[in-house]
Amino acid sequence: MTKFSLPLAALLSLTFGAPAQAITIEFDYTYDTRGFFTDTLTGAPITERRALLDEAASFYSGFTDSLTAIAPQAGDSWSVKITHPSLGGPQITLSNLDIAADTLLIYVGGSESAPGVLGFANTGSNLTASGSDAFVDAVTTRGQANTVGEDATDYGIWGGMIWFNAANVWYFGSDASGLSAGHPDFLTTATHELGHILGFGEADSWHTQIDEAGYFNGTNAMVVYGGPVPVDQYGVHWAEGVMSTVDGVAQETQMDPSTTRGLRELPTALDYAGYADVGWQVSAVPEPQHATLFGAGALLVLAAARRRSTRA
Ligand SMILES: [Zn+2]
Repeated sequence: MTKFSLPLAALLSLTFGAPAQAITIEFDYTYDTRGFFTDTLTGAPITERRALLDEAASFYSGFTDSLTAIAPQAGDSWSVKITHPSLGGPQITLSNLDIAADTLLIYVGGSESAPGVLGFANTGSNLTASGSDAFVDAVTTRGQANTVGEDATDYGIWGGMIWFNAANVWYFGSDASGLSAGHPDFLTTATHELGHILGFGEADSWHTQIDEAGYFNGTNAMVVYGGPVPVDQYGVHWAEGVMSTVDGVAQETQMDPSTTRGLRELPTALDYAGYADVGWQVSAVPEPQHATLFGAGALLVLAAARRRSTRA
């Protein structure tokens, strides 16, 4: 006889087996070869810009989950192809990386491209894994159940890449008071692009909640919005101009397709609800650090300056 009957043992396993942890977003500058985050003459980090990436990640510090470590052992291997984050087009194959539990690894860089685009992000392609079942599961789902296909309800990813368009005259500041017309806010774009890697417009569990009429029907989002939420034509953002709130103050959603240059838009209540519907445990939504920007003055600017910049 064992001490516990099977059902009790199973219950204990469910309760204590996988405690949710705050997720960690780790940036990798290996492919930052065009000087966006690194001084190419000296090799020194451009600390102001890197600190803003960390600040962007902090808006997701209230997300908890239990993501399995990707830790290849003898006989295990995996790879994924990503767009070169400083060159845009060419693909890089990443092989047999170690990624810690509850951590997403994100390769970043930038280069000059056609004006208008601010940046793009993706989670790579051609993901392959072989070895033990547990290892393959860690690579493909991070130990999350039901992440694939039309009935997906959760999401688990290794990480991804973000490219920033260096042709923009960015505002690289944390203090929103330094924003000025015509200059895109780097913190806003970085936070937005991280959102895609976190599954917004990317996860199967996101796409499966969009109906044929182009509305997102996630439970959390519908509670916040008051009904189905319109999405853009590709189903990867909220529709342009969808509004929500930051700390009770009206703001255009961060995860609509674009942001007026010169404005800061941080994750709104509706954006966070969307992440909860993707499968993140959004247990404690972080307090945005610059919510006071969105007072009456900022809204007047929004109404007056509808010159938009696109963002993938
Ligand atoms: Zn986007």
